[in-house]
Amino acid sequence: MLLRHTTTKEIDRKALTINPAKTCQPVGAMYAALGVHKCLPHSHGSQGCCSYHRSALTRHFKEPVMAATSSFSEGSSVFGGSSNLVAAIDTIFSVYEPDVIAVHTTCLSETIGDDLTQIISKANEEGKVPEGKTVIYCNTPSYVGTHITGYSNQLSALVKFFSTATHKKRNVVNLVAGWMEPSDMREIKRIASIMEARTIMFPDMSGVLDTPLTGKYKMYPDGGTTIPDMIATGDSKFTIGLGAYTTEDACVKLENKCKIKFEVVEIPIGLKATDRFVTSLSRHANIPVPDALNEERGRLLDLIADNSKYLYGKRVALFGDPDTLIPLTEFLLTLDMKPVYIVTGTSGKHFDESMAQMLGERVPEAKYMSGERADMFRLHQWIKQENVDLLIGNTYGKYIAHDEHLPFVRMGFPIADRPGHNYFTNAGYNGAANLTIKILNAILDHHDRTCPEEKIEFQM
Ligand code: SF4
Repeated sequence: MLLRHTTTKEIDRKALTINPAKTCQPVGAMYAALGVHKCLPHSHGSQGCCSYHRSALTRHFKEPVMAATSSFSEGSSVFGGSSNLVAAIDTIFSVYEPDVIAVHTTCLSETIGDDLTQIISKANEEGKVPEGKTVIYCNTPSYVGTHITGYSNQLSALVKFFSTATHKKRNVVNLVAGWMEPSDMREIKRIASIMEARTIMFPDMSGVLDTPLTGKYKMYPDGGTTIPDMIATGDSKFTIGLGAYTTEDACVKLENKCKIKFEVVEIPIGLKATDRFVTSLSRHANIPVPDALNEERGRLLDLIADNSKYLYGKRVALFGDPDTLIPLTEFLLTLDMKPVYIVTGTSGKHFDESMAQMLGERVPEAKYMSGERADMFRLHQWIKQENVDLLIGNTYGKYIAHDEHLPFVRMGFPIADRPGHNYFTNAGYNGAANLTIKILNAILDHHDRTCPEEKIEFQM
Protein backbone atom coordinates (compact mmCIF):
# COMPACT_ATOMS: atom_id res chain seq x y z
CA MET A 1 0.00 0.00 0.00
CA LEU A 2 1.79 3.13 -1.21
CA LEU A 3 -0.91 5.48 0.09
CA ARG A 4 -1.67 3.54 3.26
CA HIS A 5 -2.49 6.70 5.19
CA THR A 6 -5.47 7.62 3.02
CA THR A 7 -8.55 7.23 5.15
CA THR A 8 -11.99 6.37 3.82
CA LYS A 9 -13.68 8.91 6.05
CA GLU A 10 -13.46 12.52 4.89
CA ILE A 11 -12.71 15.20 7.45
CA ASP A 12 -13.57 18.79 6.61
CA ARG A 13 -10.32 20.55 5.72
CA LYS A 14 -10.04 24.31 5.40
CA ALA A 15 -6.35 25.02 5.12
CA LEU A 16 -4.66 21.83 4.01
CA THR A 17 -4.03 20.40 0.56
CA ILE A 18 -2.71 16.85 0.25
CA ASN A 19 -1.27 15.78 -3.10
CA PRO A 20 -2.55 18.76 -5.12
CA ALA A 21 -4.01 18.22 -8.58
CA LYS A 22 -2.01 21.13 -10.01
CA THR A 23 1.48 22.57 -10.26
CA CYS A 24 2.89 26.08 -10.08
CA GLN A 25 2.22 29.11 -12.32
CA PRO A 26 5.66 29.49 -13.96
CA VAL A 27 5.51 25.94 -15.37
CA GLY A 28 2.57 27.09 -17.49
CA ALA A 29 4.25 30.36 -18.46
CA MET A 30 7.39 28.48 -19.49
CA TYR A 31 5.46 25.92 -21.54
CA ALA A 32 3.48 28.61 -23.38
CA ALA A 33 6.65 30.60 -24.16
CA LEU A 34 8.21 27.53 -25.79
CA GLY A 35 5.44 27.71 -28.40
CA VAL A 36 6.95 30.86 -29.93
CA HIS A 37 9.75 30.37 -32.45
CA LYS A 38 13.18 31.34 -31.13
CA CYS A 39 11.82 32.36 -27.76
CA LEU A 40 13.82 31.65 -24.60
CA PRO A 41 11.75 31.54 -21.40
CA HIS A 42 13.37 33.33 -18.48
CA SER A 43 12.53 32.65 -14.85
CA HIS A 44 13.00 35.72 -12.65
CA GLY A 45 13.85 34.11 -9.35
CA SER A 46 16.14 31.52 -7.86
CA GLN A 47 17.84 28.71 -9.76
CA GLY A 48 15.81 26.11 -7.90
CA CYS A 49 12.49 27.31 -9.30
CA CYS A 50 13.81 27.36 -12.86
CA SER A 51 15.35 23.88 -12.47
CA TYR A 52 12.08 22.49 -11.18
CA HIS A 53 10.03 24.04 -14.01
CA ARG A 54 12.47 22.86 -16.67
CA SER A 55 12.69 19.37 -15.25
CA ALA A 56 8.89 19.09 -14.94
CA LEU A 57 8.60 19.87 -18.66
CA THR A 58 11.62 17.76 -19.67
CA ARG A 59 10.36 14.72 -17.78
CA HIS A 60 6.99 15.01 -19.48
CA PHE A 61 8.15 15.66 -23.04
CA LYS A 62 11.44 13.73 -22.97
CA GLU A 63 12.98 16.67 -24.80
CA PRO A 64 15.53 19.22 -23.60
CA VAL A 65 13.75 22.35 -22.34
CA MET A 66 15.85 25.49 -22.46
CA ALA A 67 15.20 28.33 -20.04
CA ALA A 68 17.29 30.99 -18.33
CA THR A 69 17.13 32.25 -14.75
CA SER A 70 17.94 35.48 -12.91
CA SER A 71 19.71 33.22 -10.42
CA PHE A 72 18.87 35.11 -7.24
CA SER A 73 21.47 35.09 -4.48
CA GLU A 74 20.88 36.00 -0.83
CA GLY A 75 21.55 39.65 -1.81
CA SER A 76 19.00 39.76 -4.63
CA SER A 77 16.49 37.98 -2.39
CA VAL A 78 16.73 40.93 0.00
CA PHE A 79 17.42 43.90 -2.25
CA GLY A 80 15.65 42.81 -5.44
CA GLY A 81 16.73 41.15 -8.67
CA SER A 82 16.80 44.16 -10.99
CA SER A 83 20.53 44.09 -11.70
CA ASN A 84 20.47 40.29 -12.16
CA LEU A 85 17.72 40.55 -14.78
CA VAL A 86 19.33 43.42 -16.70
CA ALA A 87 22.65 41.51 -16.76
CA ALA A 88 20.85 38.32 -17.77
CA ILE A 89 19.11 40.02 -20.72
CA ASP A 90 22.47 41.32 -21.92
CA THR A 91 24.14 37.90 -21.61
CA ILE A 92 21.27 35.92 -23.13
CA PHE A 93 21.08 38.06 -26.28
CA SER A 94 24.85 37.95 -26.78
CA VAL A 95 25.40 34.27 -26.01
CA TYR A 96 22.18 32.42 -26.90
CA GLU A 97 20.76 34.78 -29.57
CA PRO A 98 17.01 34.24 -29.16
CA ASP A 99 14.58 36.56 -30.95
CA VAL A 100 12.45 36.88 -27.83
CA ILE A 101 13.05 36.53 -24.11
CA ALA A 102 9.83 35.74 -22.22
CA VAL A 103 10.33 36.70 -18.58
CA HIS A 104 8.02 35.37 -15.91
CA THR A 105 8.20 35.95 -12.18
CA THR A 106 8.33 33.42 -9.33
CA CYS A 107 7.11 33.46 -5.74
CA LEU A 108 10.37 35.02 -4.58
CA SER A 109 10.53 37.95 -7.02
CA GLU A 110 6.81 38.61 -6.49
CA THR A 111 7.26 38.67 -2.71
CA ILE A 112 10.14 41.11 -3.00
CA GLY A 113 7.93 43.21 -5.29
CA ASP A 114 10.24 43.42 -8.33
CA ASP A 115 8.64 45.63 -10.97
CA LEU A 116 9.21 43.93 -14.34
CA THR A 117 7.89 46.90 -16.33
CA GLN A 118 10.47 49.17 -14.75
CA ILE A 119 13.35 46.66 -14.95
CA ILE A 120 12.78 45.80 -18.60
CA SER A 121 12.37 49.48 -19.54
CA LYS A 122 15.75 50.01 -17.90
CA ALA A 123 17.25 47.17 -19.95
CA ASN A 124 15.84 48.77 -23.11
CA GLU A 125 17.12 52.22 -22.15
CA GLU A 126 20.58 50.84 -21.44
CA GLY A 127 20.71 49.25 -24.89
CA LYS A 128 20.68 45.66 -23.63
CA VAL A 129 17.93 44.65 -26.06
CA PRO A 130 19.34 44.54 -29.63
CA GLU A 131 17.43 45.98 -32.58
CA GLY A 132 14.70 43.62 -33.78
CA LYS A 133 14.69 41.63 -30.53
CA THR A 134 11.99 41.74 -27.86
CA VAL A 135 11.66 41.10 -24.15
CA ILE A 136 8.13 40.26 -23.05
CA TYR A 137 7.00 39.56 -19.52
CA CYS A 138 4.16 38.41 -17.31
CA ASN A 139 3.56 38.03 -13.59
CA THR A 140 3.20 34.48 -12.31
CA PRO A 141 3.10 34.48 -8.51
CA SER A 142 2.64 30.87 -7.62
CA TYR A 143 0.94 31.38 -4.29
CA VAL A 144 -2.20 32.12 -6.31
CA GLY A 145 -3.52 30.14 -9.28
CA THR A 146 -1.89 27.15 -10.93
CA HIS A 147 0.14 26.23 -14.01
CA ILE A 148 -3.06 26.93 -15.96
CA THR A 149 -3.10 30.54 -14.70
CA GLY A 150 0.55 30.92 -15.68
CA TYR A 151 -0.14 29.56 -19.16
CA SER A 152 -3.05 31.97 -19.57
CA ASN A 153 -0.94 34.91 -18.36
CA GLN A 154 1.77 34.10 -20.88
CA LEU A 155 -0.77 34.00 -23.76
CA SER A 156 -2.09 37.39 -22.69
CA ALA A 157 1.48 38.72 -22.72
CA LEU A 158 1.95 37.43 -26.28
CA VAL A 159 -1.12 39.39 -27.38
CA LYS A 160 -0.07 42.47 -25.43
CA PHE A 161 3.44 42.61 -26.88
CA PHE A 162 2.93 41.33 -30.43
CA SER A 163 -0.59 41.38 -31.89
CA THR A 164 -0.86 44.50 -34.03
CA ALA A 165 -3.79 45.76 -36.10
CA THR A 166 -2.82 47.47 -39.35
CA HIS A 167 -6.49 47.65 -40.34
CA LYS A 168 -5.87 45.48 -43.40
CA LYS A 169 -8.02 42.53 -42.38
CA ARG A 170 -6.87 39.13 -43.62
CA ASN A 171 -9.04 36.12 -44.25
CA VAL A 172 -7.36 34.26 -41.40
CA VAL A 173 -8.74 32.73 -38.20
CA ASN A 174 -6.58 32.82 -35.06
CA LEU A 175 -6.53 29.59 -33.11
CA VAL A 176 -5.47 30.24 -29.52
CA ALA A 177 -4.27 26.89 -28.26
CA GLY A 178 -5.04 25.99 -24.66
CA TRP A 179 -2.80 23.64 -22.68
CA MET A 180 -2.54 20.52 -24.76
CA GLU A 181 0.11 18.22 -26.19
CA PRO A 182 2.16 19.11 -29.30
CA SER A 183 0.43 16.13 -30.93
CA ASP A 184 -2.95 17.74 -30.29
CA MET A 185 -1.79 21.03 -31.80
CA ARG A 186 -0.49 19.16 -34.83
CA GLU A 187 -3.85 17.39 -35.19
CA ILE A 188 -5.84 20.60 -34.90
CA LYS A 189 -3.67 22.19 -37.60
CA ARG A 190 -4.20 19.09 -39.75
CA ILE A 191 -7.97 19.46 -39.38
CA ALA A 192 -7.72 23.14 -40.35
CA SER A 193 -5.62 22.22 -43.37
CA ILE A 194 -8.07 19.51 -44.52
CA MET A 195 -10.72 22.23 -44.33
CA GLU A 196 -8.39 24.54 -46.28
CA ALA A 197 -8.89 27.19 -43.63
CA ARG A 198 -6.17 29.82 -43.24
CA THR A 199 -5.21 29.93 -39.58
CA ILE A 200 -2.53 31.15 -37.21
CA MET A 201 -2.11 28.99 -34.14
CA PHE A 202 -0.49 30.43 -31.05
CA PRO A 203 1.27 29.16 -29.11
CA ASP A 204 2.35 26.15 -31.14
CA MET A 205 4.56 23.55 -29.47
CA SER A 206 4.45 21.11 -32.39
CA GLY A 207 7.91 20.98 -33.90
CA VAL A 208 9.34 22.22 -30.59
CA LEU A 209 8.68 19.47 -28.05
CA ASP A 210 8.24 16.57 -30.46
CA THR A 211 11.25 17.07 -32.70
CA PRO A 212 12.85 14.33 -34.81
CA LEU A 213 16.30 12.95 -33.99
CA THR A 214 18.52 14.29 -36.76
CA GLY A 215 21.94 14.11 -35.14
CA LYS A 216 22.19 17.90 -35.20
CA TYR A 217 21.52 19.99 -32.09
CA LYS A 218 19.29 23.01 -32.53
CA MET A 219 18.85 25.23 -29.51
CA TYR A 220 15.75 26.68 -31.16
CA PRO A 221 13.79 23.99 -33.02
CA ASP A 222 12.01 24.76 -36.29
CA GLY A 223 8.52 24.86 -34.76
CA GLY A 224 6.69 27.54 -32.82
CA THR A 225 4.58 30.49 -33.88
CA THR A 226 6.82 32.94 -35.72
CA ILE A 227 6.99 36.57 -34.66
CA PRO A 228 5.56 37.85 -38.01
CA ASP A 229 2.61 35.47 -37.50
CA MET A 230 2.22 36.58 -33.91
CA ILE A 231 2.11 40.22 -35.04
CA ALA A 232 -0.33 39.34 -37.84
CA THR A 233 -2.84 37.87 -35.36
CA GLY A 234 -3.97 41.49 -34.98
CA ASP A 235 -5.24 41.54 -38.58
CA SER A 236 -7.13 38.23 -38.54
CA LYS A 237 -10.86 38.27 -39.03
CA PHE A 238 -11.79 36.05 -36.09
CA THR A 239 -10.31 34.25 -33.09
CA ILE A 240 -11.23 30.83 -31.73
CA GLY A 241 -9.97 30.09 -28.22
CA LEU A 242 -9.56 26.42 -27.34
CA GLY A 243 -10.21 26.06 -23.63
CA ALA A 244 -11.80 28.78 -21.51
CA TYR A 245 -9.38 28.66 -18.59
CA THR A 246 -6.26 29.07 -20.69
CA THR A 247 -7.36 31.17 -23.65
CA GLU A 248 -10.32 33.38 -22.79
CA ASP A 249 -8.25 36.13 -21.26
CA ALA A 250 -6.00 36.32 -24.34
CA CYS A 251 -9.06 36.36 -26.63
CA VAL A 252 -10.57 39.26 -24.67
CA LYS A 253 -7.28 41.17 -24.79
CA LEU A 254 -7.01 40.58 -28.54
CA GLU A 255 -10.53 41.87 -29.03
CA ASN A 256 -9.87 44.96 -26.93
CA LYS A 257 -6.56 45.67 -28.64
CA CYS A 258 -7.30 44.78 -32.27
CA LYS A 259 -11.12 44.61 -32.41
CA ILE A 260 -11.23 40.94 -33.39
CA LYS A 261 -14.37 39.06 -32.38
CA PHE A 262 -13.87 35.70 -30.75
CA GLU A 263 -15.50 32.50 -29.63
CA VAL A 264 -14.16 30.18 -26.96
CA VAL A 265 -14.90 26.49 -27.43
CA GLU A 266 -13.60 23.46 -25.55
CA ILE A 267 -10.35 21.80 -26.53
CA PRO A 268 -11.58 19.32 -29.19
CA ILE A 269 -11.38 16.18 -27.04
CA GLY A 270 -14.14 13.73 -27.90
CA LEU A 271 -16.92 13.68 -30.44
CA LYS A 272 -19.06 16.64 -29.41
CA ALA A 273 -16.23 19.02 -28.55
CA THR A 274 -14.61 18.25 -31.93
CA ASP A 275 -17.97 18.85 -33.62
CA ARG A 276 -18.15 22.26 -31.95
CA PHE A 277 -14.61 23.18 -32.98
CA VAL A 278 -15.11 22.05 -36.57
CA THR A 279 -18.46 23.88 -36.76
CA SER A 280 -16.93 27.05 -35.37
CA LEU A 281 -13.99 26.95 -37.78
CA SER A 282 -16.31 26.14 -40.69
CA ARG A 283 -18.58 29.07 -39.84
CA HIS A 284 -15.88 31.65 -39.20
CA ALA A 285 -13.61 30.62 -42.06
CA ASN A 286 -16.72 30.35 -44.24
CA ILE A 287 -15.75 26.89 -45.49
CA PRO A 288 -17.97 23.79 -45.58
CA VAL A 289 -16.89 20.69 -43.65
CA PRO A 290 -15.14 18.42 -46.18
CA ASP A 291 -16.11 14.77 -46.75
CA ALA A 292 -12.72 13.60 -45.51
CA LEU A 293 -13.48 14.95 -42.06
CA ASN A 294 -17.00 13.53 -42.04
CA GLU A 295 -15.45 10.14 -42.82
CA GLU A 296 -13.09 10.42 -39.84
CA ARG A 297 -16.12 11.25 -37.70
CA GLY A 298 -18.00 8.26 -39.08
CA ARG A 299 -15.12 5.90 -38.28
CA LEU A 300 -15.11 7.17 -34.70
CA LEU A 301 -18.86 6.55 -34.42
CA ASP A 302 -18.35 3.01 -35.72
CA LEU A 303 -15.64 2.34 -33.14
CA ILE A 304 -17.87 3.64 -30.34
CA ALA A 305 -20.86 1.60 -31.51
CA ASP A 306 -18.78 -1.60 -31.83
CA ASN A 307 -17.40 -1.34 -28.30
CA SER A 308 -20.07 0.33 -26.22
CA LYS A 309 -20.92 -3.01 -24.60
CA TYR A 310 -17.56 -2.98 -22.80
CA LEU A 311 -17.88 0.63 -21.66
CA TYR A 312 -21.53 0.99 -20.76
CA GLY A 313 -22.07 2.06 -17.15
CA LYS A 314 -18.39 1.84 -16.16
CA ARG A 315 -17.61 4.20 -13.28
CA VAL A 316 -14.70 6.57 -13.91
CA ALA A 317 -12.65 8.84 -11.62
CA LEU A 318 -10.63 11.56 -13.31
CA PHE A 319 -8.41 14.47 -12.33
CA GLY A 320 -6.36 17.13 -14.10
CA ASP A 321 -6.91 20.50 -15.70
CA PRO A 322 -10.38 21.96 -16.23
CA ASP A 323 -9.96 22.63 -19.97
CA THR A 324 -9.24 18.92 -20.43
CA LEU A 325 -11.67 17.54 -17.87
CA ILE A 326 -14.73 19.33 -19.24
CA PRO A 327 -14.60 17.83 -22.77
CA LEU A 328 -13.24 14.54 -21.41
CA THR A 329 -16.22 14.18 -19.05
CA GLU A 330 -18.53 14.95 -21.95
CA PHE A 331 -16.81 12.29 -24.06
CA LEU A 332 -17.09 9.67 -21.31
CA LEU A 333 -20.82 10.37 -21.27
CA THR A 334 -20.87 9.96 -25.05
CA LEU A 335 -19.28 6.54 -24.48
CA ASP A 336 -22.11 5.76 -22.00
CA MET A 337 -19.61 5.62 -19.16
CA LYS A 338 -20.24 7.19 -15.76
CA PRO A 339 -17.80 9.92 -14.69
CA VAL A 340 -18.46 9.76 -10.95
CA TYR A 341 -15.52 11.59 -9.35
CA ILE A 342 -13.79 14.60 -10.93
CA VAL A 343 -11.27 16.94 -9.29
CA THR A 344 -9.13 19.80 -10.55
CA GLY A 345 -6.74 21.96 -8.55
CA THR A 346 -7.61 24.98 -10.71
CA SER A 347 -10.61 26.80 -9.31
CA GLY A 348 -13.30 28.48 -11.36
CA LYS A 349 -17.04 28.65 -11.81
CA HIS A 350 -17.00 27.40 -15.38
CA PHE A 351 -15.83 23.95 -14.28
CA ASP A 352 -18.49 23.65 -11.57
CA GLU A 353 -21.25 24.89 -13.88
CA SER A 354 -20.20 22.63 -16.77
CA MET A 355 -20.11 19.59 -14.48
CA ALA A 356 -23.50 20.43 -12.98
CA GLN A 357 -24.97 20.82 -16.44
CA MET A 358 -23.48 17.61 -17.86
CA LEU A 359 -23.82 15.34 -14.85
CA GLY A 360 -26.87 16.69 -13.02
CA GLU A 361 -29.41 14.39 -14.64
CA ARG A 362 -27.27 11.68 -16.16
CA VAL A 363 -25.00 10.88 -13.20
CA PRO A 364 -26.74 12.42 -10.15
CA GLU A 365 -24.41 10.55 -7.76
CA ALA A 366 -21.32 12.24 -9.30
CA LYS A 367 -19.00 14.22 -7.01
CA TYR A 368 -16.81 16.95 -8.44
CA MET A 369 -14.73 19.72 -6.95
CA SER A 370 -12.34 22.44 -8.08
CA GLY A 371 -9.74 24.53 -6.27
CA GLU A 372 -7.03 24.01 -3.72
CA ARG A 373 -8.90 21.47 -1.61
CA ALA A 374 -9.87 19.43 -4.64
CA ASP A 375 -6.78 17.29 -4.25
CA MET A 376 -5.86 13.73 -5.02
CA PHE A 377 -6.15 12.68 -1.39
CA ARG A 378 -9.85 13.56 -1.56
CA LEU A 379 -10.25 11.76 -4.88
CA HIS A 380 -8.67 8.67 -3.31
CA GLN A 381 -11.05 8.92 -0.34
CA TRP A 382 -14.04 9.04 -2.68
CA ILE A 383 -12.70 5.98 -4.50
CA LYS A 384 -12.28 4.18 -1.19
CA GLN A 385 -15.87 4.98 -0.26
CA GLU A 386 -17.20 3.47 -3.48
CA ASN A 387 -14.82 2.02 -6.02
CA VAL A 388 -14.55 2.87 -9.71
CA ASP A 389 -13.78 0.83 -12.82
CA LEU A 390 -11.23 3.21 -14.31
CA LEU A 391 -8.95 6.08 -13.29
CA ILE A 392 -7.82 8.76 -15.77
CA GLY A 393 -5.15 11.33 -14.96
CA ASN A 394 -1.46 12.15 -14.92
CA THR A 395 1.35 9.95 -13.57
CA TYR A 396 0.58 10.83 -9.95
CA GLY A 397 -2.55 8.71 -10.32
CA LYS A 398 -0.49 5.51 -10.56
CA TYR A 399 -0.18 5.31 -6.78
CA ILE A 400 -3.97 5.30 -6.34
CA ALA A 401 -4.35 2.88 -9.26
CA HIS A 402 -1.76 0.57 -7.70
CA ASP A 403 -3.36 0.57 -4.26
CA GLU A 404 -6.92 0.17 -5.50
CA HIS A 405 -6.05 -2.26 -8.36
CA LEU A 406 -7.59 0.00 -10.98
CA PRO A 407 -7.12 0.17 -14.73
CA PHE A 408 -5.39 3.49 -15.35
CA VAL A 409 -5.25 5.70 -18.45
CA ARG A 410 -2.58 8.37 -18.39
CA MET A 411 -3.76 11.73 -19.63
CA GLY A 412 -2.80 15.27 -18.63
CA PHE A 413 0.35 16.81 -17.17
CA PRO A 414 2.78 15.52 -16.08
CA ILE A 415 3.19 12.07 -17.57
CA ALA A 416 6.66 11.09 -16.44
CA ASP A 417 6.51 7.31 -16.71
CA ARG A 418 5.20 6.57 -20.21
CA PRO A 419 6.11 7.89 -23.69
CA GLY A 420 3.87 8.69 -26.61
CA HIS A 421 1.58 11.41 -25.34
CA ASN A 422 3.34 14.11 -27.34
CA TYR A 423 3.18 11.96 -30.50
CA PHE A 424 -0.28 10.36 -30.44
CA THR A 425 -3.11 12.82 -30.22
CA ASN A 426 -6.22 12.85 -28.06
CA ALA A 427 -7.71 15.72 -30.09
CA GLY A 428 -10.09 15.66 -33.04
CA TYR A 429 -11.97 12.60 -34.27
CA ASN A 430 -8.77 10.57 -34.65
CA GLY A 431 -7.70 11.56 -31.15
CA ALA A 432 -11.08 10.51 -29.77
CA ALA A 433 -10.56 7.13 -31.44
CA ASN A 434 -7.08 6.87 -29.83
CA LEU A 435 -8.57 7.74 -26.47
CA THR A 436 -11.39 5.22 -26.83
CA ILE A 437 -8.87 2.50 -27.63
CA LYS A 438 -6.68 3.44 -24.65
CA ILE A 439 -9.71 3.25 -22.35
CA LEU A 440 -10.85 -0.04 -23.86
CA ASN A 441 -7.41 -1.62 -23.64
CA ALA A 442 -7.01 -0.58 -20.01
CA ILE A 443 -10.39 -2.04 -19.04
CA LEU A 444 -10.09 -5.23 -21.09
CA ASP A 445 -6.46 -5.88 -20.03
CA HIS A 446 -7.53 -5.50 -16.41
CA HIS A 447 -10.42 -7.90 -16.99
CA ASP A 448 -8.16 -10.51 -18.63
CA ARG A 449 -5.63 -10.21 -15.81
CA THR A 450 -8.05 -10.44 -12.91
CA CYS A 451 -11.03 -12.56 -14.05
CA PRO A 452 -11.41 -16.24 -13.00
CA GLU A 453 -9.93 -18.75 -15.47
CA GLU A 454 -13.33 -19.91 -16.68
CA LYS A 455 -14.22 -16.33 -17.66
CA ILE A 456 -11.27 -15.81 -19.99
CA GLU A 457 -12.53 -15.24 -23.53
CA PHE A 458 -10.46 -15.48 -26.71
CA GLN A 459 -12.88 -13.36 -28.72
CA MET A 460 -14.13 -10.15 -27.20
S1 SF4 B 1 8.88 28.80 -5.06
FE1 SF4 B 1 6.99 29.29 -6.17
S2 SF4 B 1 7.62 29.57 -8.30
FE2 SF4 B 1 9.30 28.51 -7.26
S3 SF4 B 1 8.90 26.33 -7.66
FE3 SF4 B 1 7.96 26.85 -5.67
S4 SF4 B 1 5.83 27.37 -6.15
FE4 SF4 B 1 6.99 27.43 -8.08
